Amino acid sequence: MNTERVIIIGSGPAGYTAAIYAARAELKPLLFEGERLGGQPGGQLMLTTDVENFPGFPDGLMGPEMMEKFKKQAARFGTRIMSEDIVSVDFSKRPFVVSTSNQSYASEAVIITTGAGALWLGVPGETQYQGHGVSACATCDGFFFKGKHVLVVGGGDAAMEEATFLTKFASRVTVLVRKDVLRASKIMQERAEKDPKITFVWNTEVKEVLGDPSTGSGQVAKMTGARILNNKTNEESEITADGLFVAVGHKPNSDIFKGQIELDQKGYVVTKPGSSATSVEGVFAGGDVADYRYRQAVTAAGTGCMAALDAEKWLASKE
Ligand code: NDP
Repeated sequence: MNTERVIIIGSGPAGYTAAIYAARAELKPLLFEGERLGGQPGGQLMLTTDVENFPGFPDGLMGPEMMEKFKKQAARFGTRIMSEDIVSVDFSKRPFVVSTSNQSYASEAVIITTGAGALWLGVPGETQYQGHGVSACATCDGFFFKGKHVLVVGGGDAAMEEATFLTKFASRVTVLVRKDVLRASKIMQERAEKDPKITFVWNTEVKEVLGDPSTGSGQVAKMTGARILNNKTNEESEITADGLFVAVGHKPNSDIFKGQIELDQKGYVVTKPGSSATSVEGVFAGGDVADYRYRQAVTAAGTGCMAALDAEKWLASKE
């Protein structure tokens, strides 16, 4: 088995940025895009429509187009891109070994950029209207709901933060909570409750996202509301809305690293403060798999860059 200098696992903004830097440092990175690891190669941006907050693109661009550009830039400097998933890793000795379902690869350093995925409701219409009203990121998509009525699903800090943030744009925000209490911290809760634009609807579950699926002659699919259930009275009703923000948590794609490196209680990779170093020397991490807080393409790209610079420095120190 050849030993690589650096293997990068994951193909979102963090992975490709790490690859651009590692390739330009002549480390000849081998990057595994993954088929299922992050839901899809390219990561969460493949599920977004317009990206308007990535600096350097004043006219915005589509999420998938942006990932194509990241990939092209990584390939331009010689990154070798493999489409398989890594299904297991062995970080117990060096060189490290990472394996797909039919082959193993050895590497002196590994960069983990497997990302995270929003948890979704799994109800009919939700996938169909993603990017057409349904979103899991108010920071990314809130801007498109100026003067509109939007729904937020969830009762945690993220739901409170999303609801409060959305009041900057939306005329009305309705938070649908499945229990009759919130899980959010007191301060976030109070801030949302005090906001005149926010209304809470309790004991309520979304059963279906409703919309107009027409796609022909310049018309685009658009959500128009949701079918909801009051789980106390068992009554179903329809609520009209232009957007639905799902804020029921995220899950880092870190299952294959369990027992190999330190993960926090929620499964996020633990990195040393101000660095991308993990609990195993020579293994670095960047992007959402190590960040539950910011979750932005630009922060993922930033920490992916840190991981490549840290790996380069670490490899040089071993020579
Ligand atoms: P949480 O796990 O804290 O909350 C998830 C919420 O979603 C709960 O209210 C839960 O309801 C609800 N929920 C889960 N599944 C469904 C479903 N299928 N239908 C309807 N509701 C559902 O996740 P968050 O993303 O809010 O927060 C994650 C972590 O990040 C927390 O530690 C949080 O404190 C932190 N965070 C901090 C922020 C800050 O400090 N600024 C901002 C955002 C997050 P139930 O209560 O019934 O289980």
